[in-house]
Amino acid sequence: MLARLQGKVALVTGASGGIGEATVRRLAAEGARLVITDVEHKPCADLTAEVPGDHLPAALDVTDERQWQDVVGKVERDLGRLDVLVNNAGIGSLGTVEDESRDRWDQVIAVDQLGTWLGMKYGGPLIERSGGGSIVNVCSILGTVGGLGNSLAYAAAKGAVRTMTKNAALHWATRGVRVNSLHPGFIETRQLLERFSGTPRHTAMLAGTPMGRLGQAGEVAASVAFLASEDSGFITGSELYVDGGWTAQ
Ligand code: NAP
Repeated sequence: MLARLQGKVALVTGASGGIGEATVRRLAAEGARLVITDVEHKPCADLTAEVPGDHLPAALDVTDERQWQDVVGKVERDLGRLDVLVNNAGIGSLGTVEDESRDRWDQVIAVDQLGTWLGMKYGGPLIERSGGGSIVNVCSILGTVGGLGNSLAYAAAKGAVRTMTKNAALHWATRGVRVNSLHPGFIETRQLLERFSGTPRHTAMLAGTPMGRLGQAGEVAASVAFLASEDSGFITGSELYVDGGWTAQ
């Protein structure tokens, strides 16, 4: 395993399962000290105890501005720096343009769009004060293309994540803070399998993916590690697709 993140501090949101957990494990394996955050403290504490190294668990609901201020303040006080922020927390929606509910719209926009902005707003300045680093916004192929013609609210939020990423990248371009979006296709997380395995939607995801299989969380995490590290030192405002060829079609 590479050790590209030795001495770096990385905060991951929505870190207790799926892509977030795989990202924690990968960044830790590459030498980073992790701030492991999610809505509930306990799963973060459990994961912290499991991952080798000296990591910090923290409860962080990404829609709560006050919690962002508290957690980023604690990171600065206790760890002295922040080098990498992975805005990973996200929730989905299945509704179409006709049947999406107003409640679900509000929830999805709050977590996926507002949460990503608040992360950049409070994490970015600490990264700059720490001498520069990288923000990775976990987006989706649905931030760019129409997918299966549903998940309207999710597509709206992820489209905003994609364009906010470019806007923030330009804002910080000369100040050492790089910002990129990472666009997974359909990734075989436990949650996705539990919800869709054996359903027509699962078949459609597989059939629509040119590589003929779903992705693994570890494959997304490996790309997060690349964007987090100085191997991507001249890359900012860009989009990296981890989608088995979906958007090449
Ligand atoms: P996941 O397993 O559901 O992980 C998302 C995490 O975010 C969960 O731990 C969830 O906690 C947490 N979360 C939900 N609301 C939150 C909030 N308000 N504040 C902080 N954390 C919150 O999903 P995943 O598949 O790993 O997804 C991770 C990211 O990848 C998301 O941004 C998703 O949109 C993106 N993505 C996933 C896929 C895929 O196929 N899996 C494809 C494209 C993009 P709870 O479990 O407690 O709700």
